[in-house]
Amino acid sequence: MRRLWRSVLDGLVPYDAGLPLEALARQIGRPDLVRLSANENPLGPSPLAVAAVEREAPRIHLYPDGGSTALREALGRSHAVAPSQIVVGNGADELIALIAAAAFEAGDEVVVPMPSFEPYEISARLAGGRVVESPLVDYQTDLDDVLRRVSDRTKAVMLCSPHNPATTIIRRGALLAFLDALGPDSPLVVLDQAYIDFCDEPDHPDGIRLLERYPRLVVLRTFSKIAGLAGLRVGYAVASAEAIDRFNRVRAPYNVNRLGQIAALAALDDHAHTEKTRQLVLEERAYLSAELIKRGYSFPPSQANFLLVAVPDAPGLRTRLMREGILVRDGAGVGFPSHLRFAVGLRETNDKLLSLL
Ligand code: PMP
Repeated sequence: MRRLWRSVLDGLVPYDAGLPLEALARQIGRPDLVRLSANENPLGPSPLAVAAVEREAPRIHLYPDGGSTALREALGRSHAVAPSQIVVGNGADELIALIAAAAFEAGDEVVVPMPSFEPYEISARLAGGRVVESPLVDYQTDLDDVLRRVSDRTKAVMLCSPHNPATTIIRRGALLAFLDALGPDSPLVVLDQAYIDFCDEPDHPDGIRLLERYPRLVVLRTFSKIAGLAGLRVGYAVASAEAIDRFNRVRAPYNVNRLGQIAALAALDDHAHTEKTRQLVLEERAYLSAELIKRGYSFPPSQANFLLVAVPDAPGLRTRLMREGILVRDGAGVGFPSHLRFAVGLRETNDKLLSLL
């Protein structure tokens, strides 16, 4: 018999993003359902991005710029790097897949702190790589342990800061010591900073500023969170020009759609929306955290736009919250049973959540 499908797929299950928000709201009869399970922007999208999408809509019969040129140039200016050091992807999700397609071969090892954002592991396994797990310690990435697990066969290390789902960060000193210890023939070090805009810890490194000194770093960013463009799917990687050239060889010709490119470009200039989002998340995160502590809950201090809170009977509590109109994530789905993960919402949502808890 002809074997049609790759055997590695037998061990993978399709990503379960749950029912679309609108369908779930209909199913449970709660049109007012608020989703806090996907770490989305509580203020909605950048208004400048919305206006740009409306202006661009009549041109959607035309293919987009396959190289996202204008967006890469604007990103280059805003991060003070050359556009040749940037590749834009269909969400940061696509970039994780591009890294795997460009770099991982059968037998390669990929060191992943665990639990972590799921696609790191899946992309490595799909490429035939072997995932080497480094357990988080007290919700923190343990870089000493990660370093011990790096071998000659290690192709990449997948770091996330602020961490999803653990909400913690990797501090500058620890990261630099780690990168120095890896030395000049280091594996790729992917530093996923999807949530960097919500970090107010001065000791948190901006990975892009480290690229000159550590050319094997690959930094990931996204417009999904701070700019509120999750539905358009735009993320980007900043790395050495050599790495970007390799990623360009494996990406689809028109990987980022026309509306996504236009919206991201507009969102980059929307400083008012960026600041408002950041202010709201920082204020409400502090408020929610303080109120949860008063109620006796325990959780790591969050540097992201969501919290990971230990609770008794997480599945039951999640169901009760959903019936009351607030959708949160059962931590079991992201490697933390007996926890709930929920995004910071507007004050009225947060107050409702607190009163239900
Ligand atoms: N990295 C992390 C840590 C994330 O949490 C997410 C989104 N949930 C992504 C990357 C992917 O972001 P995007 O929406 O740009 O694909």
